[in-house]
Amino acid sequence: MAEAGLAAAIDRVGNVYGRTPGNRRTVLIGSHTDSVPNGGWLDGALGVMYGLEIARAMIEAGHAGGVDVISFQDEEGTFLPCLGSKSYCGVLSNDDLARAAGPDERRLSDVLAAAGFSAEASRFEPDRQVAYLEAHIEQGPKLEAAGARIGIVTGIVGIRRFRVRASGQADHAGTTPMRLRKDAGAALIRLAARILESMPAMSAGETVWNIGAMEFKPGAANVVPAEASFILEIRDLDEKVLDRLQTRVEAMVAEAAAGAPVAVAHESIGRIEAVAMDRALADIVRKVAARHVGEPMIMPSGAGHDAMVVARTMPSAMLFIPSIGGRSHNIVEDTREDDIVLGCRVLADAVNEVLSRAGSTDRPGR
Ligand SMILES: [Zn+2]
Repeated sequence: MAEAGLAAAIDRVGNVYGRTPGNRRTVLIGSHTDSVPNGGWLDGALGVMYGLEIARAMIEAGHAGGVDVISFQDEEGTFLPCLGSKSYCGVLSNDDLARAAGPDERRLSDVLAAAGFSAEASRFEPDRQVAYLEAHIEQGPKLEAAGARIGIVTGIVGIRRFRVRASGQADHAGTTPMRLRKDAGAALIRLAARILESMPAMSAGETVWNIGAMEFKPGAANVVPAEASFILEIRDLDEKVLDRLQTRVEAMVAEAAAGAPVAVAHESIGRIEAVAMDRALADIVRKVAARHVGEPMIMPSGAGHDAMVVARTMPSAMLFIPSIGGRSHNIVEDTREDDIVLGCRVLADAVNEVLSRAGSTDRPGR
């Protein structure tokens, strides 16, 4: 960042923040450079490199106005999901910071102290930055399947997670007659199957769901399960759809509890609100993209991104470029080189458009 002509610093949580010198209006471009275990080379880092390249080119060209670049820390949540963007937007509480722990129970506060970062927090500068733009690989197969090279993100989906538990009685699986069993496992499998079979009819077009964890206790081939649980996750851009699905799932759990010789109950274990991107800003990116490749694909993001934090603080928009085979969070993650170049050109043109509008009119509206 310093080589590109930015005033660069690493802040208290490890964000790397590069400001274009001067007091002109800027667009903030960023993403994250942390990754998941065995992750690929583009998830996150691509959006930071775009910002760095656009800032470098603008400084070199002596462009009026400019780009501030940020590499947010720990978007993936090794210690605390979206740690860097939360800190930047001033929504990270000291309690959250003190409580956060990562692998091997290492406390985030200890790790940050050992890293020797500055005590300063970099912060959103409302009198300076008119918009936040984040480019990211799609991490899914939709763009590739449609032959589209740019995606414009309407919003980032909300997530609801529920743990459903059944409690029965452990008995000998060879000697206990079937009619006398209090089989928590069988009750839970039947309920899980009912939910999965019902979801297509209950959900909206873009809803996705997953039962990604299931556990039996004591968990032996010759013991009737005494306890069983699964975790159901549902994602959609529309909170009303999520409300409706939650109500239906709760009713199905209650029905299962009413008819079974075991107790069945559920609890909510996670909830992230859906976040809409700024419409006016997203439309600028869409129009700029259309000049390059025709109408881009308009799509929600099923994955979380720093933009879902930043969008609550300042006008924000995201663009996606295709992922080969839809693969991501894996070392095979890749994108065609001409798509990588195209994404950067579209983002650079969007920056110019936003800055020229900010110079002559108001900043993009909410
Ligand atoms: Zn990412």
